[in-house]
Amino acid sequence: MKVTEHIKQAKGKTLFSFEIVPPQKGQNIQELYDNINPLMEFKPPFIDVTTSREEHVYLAKGNGLLEQKITRMRPGTVGICASLKYKYNVDAIPHVLCGGFTKEETEYLLVDCHYLGLDNVMALRGDAMKHEKYFSATEGGNMYASDLVVQISDLNRGKYLHELIETPYKTDFCIGVAGYPEKHIESPSLDTDLRRLKEKVDAGADYVVTQMFFDNQKFFDFVKKARAIGITVPIIPGIKPIAIKRHLQVLPQVFKLDLPEALITEVEKCSNNEQVREVGVEWAIAQSKELVAKGVPVVHFYSMGKSDNIKAIAKEVF
Ligand code: FAD
Repeated sequence: MKVTEHIKQAKGKTLFSFEIVPPQKGQNIQELYDNINPLMEFKPPFIDVTTSREEHVYLAKGNGLLEQKITRMRPGTVGICASLKYKYNVDAIPHVLCGGFTKEETEYLLVDCHYLGLDNVMALRGDAMKHEKYFSATEGGNMYASDLVVQISDLNRGKYLHELIETPYKTDFCIGVAGYPEKHIESPSLDTDLRRLKEKVDAGADYVVTQMFFDNQKFFDFVKKARAIGITVPIIPGIKPIAIKRHLQVLPQVFKLDLPEALITEVEKCSNNEQVREVGVEWAIAQSKELVAKGVPVVHFYSMGKSDNIKAIAKEVF
């Protein structure tokens, strides 16, 4: 079922959902199940499965030289979605990226999703590759998430890439896109970034999931501004509990977000990461309770492959 239908059916009750990261290739899917199992009692209507960009690896050629190859460390997003859908009877949402895929590859991936009965896709640009300073489009691929939304919307109308006319073979994907309460790192301003978000919605996006934030006021202000410029689709807050002390440096650096002073003070008091995890859980519980009280449609958690802290939060909130 579509995310938007889940939200409609919930009639104002806030839903619980989360995102998982595929295991490194060669690992068993059981570990993933072991992390998902404890969260299923909170009845997530959907689970997101991320997609990782390709990476360069260097292989010794045996003559003292190295050969550059491209590999994906965590493939299998669509396969995992299919396994989750049929194992747990839950809607599993593959993240579809511009970066690393030609438009043709994207079309084939979407056709697979359609055959597998996946009703939702999350359309994202992806980040620059590790060796790049800025994102550059893959040759023959989409440049911005809005272009990808156009491609998916085209397919929803039966318009395939190299068909001259619209066919009767339409997909019916519900399309999610990313939003940034503290603006995307590359954007010159929050207002500009919001205009870009509006372009994604105008191109056919049905709902927005936000980047993590630690100060709810930033989210409330973001939603207000989004509504003011005519973005009417559901906006789902994304929450990540802080888990290690290093997050104090890493999260602002990677995601360009501010951490509230009170959270920093509490984390700095901790003498080990077990204590940091407890602080992270308490903070996320307080954030989630306020979001629920304000009537957000869903609270979406970034689990990063570990469920114990998400379970501790969900137990208090849902
Ligand atoms: P876009 O919407 O394309 O925006 C990227 C930047 O370009 C923004 O600064 C925007 O303002 C600007 N922009 C947009 N359109 C234009 C235009 N026409 N002209 C000029 N500038 C423009 N990454 C992964 O690799 N895998 C994942 O699974 C994944 N999942 C995510 C899930 C969520 C909920 C979120 C919030 C992020 C996720 N990301 C993931 C990270 C995401 O790929 C990065 O944040 C990426 O840098 C931007 O993606 P986007 O879809 O927001 O891009």
